[in-house]
Amino acid sequence: MCESDEISQLVYDVYLSLPRKGKPEAGLQWTLLAAVLKITEKTGHSVHREVVALGTGTKCIGRSAMSPRGDVLNDSHAEVIARRSCVRYLMEQLCLALRGDQNSVFCPANQNGKWKLRPGISFVFFTSHTPCGDASIVPMTDSQVQPCPPIRSEEDSEATNQDSEMESVRWREESGGVRKKLKVSEETQSGNAAAVEDCDVSDVHRTGAKSVPGAPADPKGPGLMYHSVGLLRVKPGRGEPTLSLSCSDKLARWTVVGFQGALLSHFLQEALYFKAVVVGKCPYSQQAMERALNRCGQVCGLPEGFSVHLPELMQSSLEFIHSRTHTQTHTDHTQARVVPCGAAVSWCAVSKQPLDVTANGYKQGVTKKALGTPRARSLISKVELFDSFLELLAVAGDSQLPESLRCKKLSSYWDYKQAAEGYQQAWDVLRSQVFPLWPRSPRELLLFCSDSHSAPNRPDPSSATHSRP
Ligand SMILES: [Zn+2]
Repeated sequence: MCESDEISQLVYDVYLSLPRKGKPEAGLQWTLLAAVLKITEKTGHSVHREVVALGTGTKCIGRSAMSPRGDVLNDSHAEVIARRSCVRYLMEQLCLALRGDQNSVFCPANQNGKWKLRPGISFVFFTSHTPCGDASIVPMTDSQVQPCPPIRSEEDSEATNQDSEMESVRWREESGGVRKKLKVSEETQSGNAAAVEDCDVSDVHRTGAKSVPGAPADPKGPGLMYHSVGLLRVKPGRGEPTLSLSCSDKLARWTVVGFQGALLSHFLQEALYFKAVVVGKCPYSQQAMERALNRCGQVCGLPEGFSVHLPELMQSSLEFIHSRTHTQTHTDHTQARVVPCGAAVSWCAVSKQPLDVTANGYKQGVTKKALGTPRARSLISKVELFDSFLELLAVAGDSQLPESLRCKKLSSYWDYKQAAEGYQQAWDVLRSQVFPLWPRSPRELLLFCSDSHSAPNRPDPSSATHSRP
């Protein structure tokens, strides 16, 4: 088995070992899967791979559903769930390191209060599908050997609203050179490859993610002229636009600022980057992936601890069993059409409650009454990760507190993120050089404090006590 197949098989095995809760209903629903693997290279070329975080999900909430308490997951695409799950895993790993555990992925770096990855350890990102947004704009000629996703008319707004995976649009050359879009019903085309062989037809996969405000709109012309490439895009939501950038954009951003996020960067001497990105069997174009993920290749002038790390890009020949195409081709055609699964599964290699299943950004199955209470929130929501971070500060105490957190009066999530100066500088450099149109998150949604550290009884961080009540 080649490396990319081994990696995808490991992820599929972990996925299959998880309980049914939050997984698609067989034959009726599909989902997207993503994961982070820890790679340990030992002397003598032996390599050990371990899935440390995993996510599924297809949905994204709109602006009006976002919460100022940090208790809702805005973006539940599998890639984002996997990344947040990985941050949760890293928080626990850092906690172990602070307590002197030699089994942590982190070991002390030379700067006081800073940590680095233990030698030989790296991380690889897996996704069962081409990330939404720019990487999904794939000419069909590049992927004709791949199973073709369903064809829907542009007017089928439900599809673009709900689906993050590529859509495909089919065009036919009409007499007089005018191209007309073919409207092919689900029933006539599913499982029927006849139209693909028609040499008059040229196809383009498209993404449901629209370009960000201020960027040129897609020309929506025939075939390859439908989309502009290289643009920042926002994810489709349910009827209203979201503020969440496409997964292609987020992956590109992580090649510069790292995937650890602002909070963890306080403790790290160097940002964490994925060594490789592996995509499962699906419509895929190496060229489109490179175009989308390598957009930050020329960034210069980054602060210490940050540099451009373009991951190796690989595709596996193994398909995810709950992918859209697999579900469609293995379903009884008399049944209703398959739909994306509304739940998102988060799992990571932590000691307590590794599994976290959400729907609409909250824990799945909570009553309406419980919404807004700690019981309803995901363990990978902003406020929960913030709590874990504050616990790290308590464990670090005075002696192991990083420089960026010393003698500062910080209280809100926003404060602690802004105090990560290196991270913020790297982000400013990236934004000014490559992504000037990247929308800023509304500040009022980031000003929340932790429940357990809320004023007025909050310990004063300058006193470096940080202990929880
Ligand atoms: Zn996505």
